[in-house]
Amino acid sequence: MPAIRMDGRAVAARWKEEARKRAEHCLEHGVTPHLAVILAGEDPASRVYVRNKENACAKAGIRSTVIRLAQDCTQEELEKTVLTLNEDPGVHGILVQLPLPKHLCEARVLALVHPDKDVDGFHAMNAGRLMIGQKGFVPCTPLGVMKLLEAYGIPICGKHAVIIGRSNIVGKPMAMLLLAANATVTLCHSHTQGLAELTRQADILVAAVGKPGFVTAEMIKPGAAVIDVGINRTQDGLTGDVEERAADVAGFLTPVPGGVGQMTIAMLLSNTLDAAERHGC
Ligand code: NAD
Repeated sequence: MPAIRMDGRAVAARWKEEARKRAEHCLEHGVTPHLAVILAGEDPASRVYVRNKENACAKAGIRSTVIRLAQDCTQEELEKTVLTLNEDPGVHGILVQLPLPKHLCEARVLALVHPDKDVDGFHAMNAGRLMIGQKGFVPCTPLGVMKLLEAYGIPICGKHAVIIGRSNIVGKPMAMLLLAANATVTLCHSHTQGLAELTRQADILVAAVGKPGFVTAEMIKPGAAVIDVGINRTQDGLTGDVEERAADVAGFLTPVPGGVGQMTIAMLLSNTLDAAERHGC
């Protein structure tokens, strides 16, 4: 039986509707939820992502402001922009679109975003909170994966979850979330030996590598839930990290597009509303 396709679009639509109601409630209490996005440079993919975020905010009734900085903007200019937004009581969430142009230091900028406005969950304070099980902002993509697993009733407790990719944005927070949900977690990366042996033990397999077709059907345990986080631009359009044939082996599989990407945006709305609701709505 082919894998059940996990419809990120449908699950995200429910979260977006919830966000719309929450935003309405904020407005009724005199608070306009407001997300500020800093877009430095001309990266075409980043521009698309930012446009999608703006559209999603508009549909949910969340105000969004995009601050566009030139490709050759200085570190000082970027940092000043963040500091100004930190001080603005009308801005609830701040997001610095990544990647930044090469001459800018990402770590220094992310460290400046006020942790209470860090709706991407990339600040060390929020990463630390996640690590020790305290409440804080959780990065949108791995949070979206958790909500998708939940929506499809996929058991996590006591299961073996294998993640491929250890970035601060996806792999590491994904490991923390699955661990907190009582999975046994294996975090794999480019130096992992015997990768396929490990992935074949996974009840839940998360691929966040950025290489089209990286996960083959042979790497998957029959019946496993396979979450494809990868977004790769190929000649054939957008593809994930998991090859098509995986659907013959997996029990559940997320499509690309229409899977995790949709959940990421829905979680950004949810995090922004969490930030706005701290202002008494
Ligand atoms: P990254 O480049 O920071 O990390 C890639 C990871 O893959 C690294 O940790 C590396 O160790 C691992 N890796 C590379 N080659 C490997 C190999 N041969 N064996 C095992 N591991 C290997 O990327 P990222 O920011 O974590 O993103 C990963 C993918 O997810 C990209 O395609 C990105 O576009 C996508 N992404 C999607 C969303 C979404 O909303 N769906 C959000 C963020 C990222």
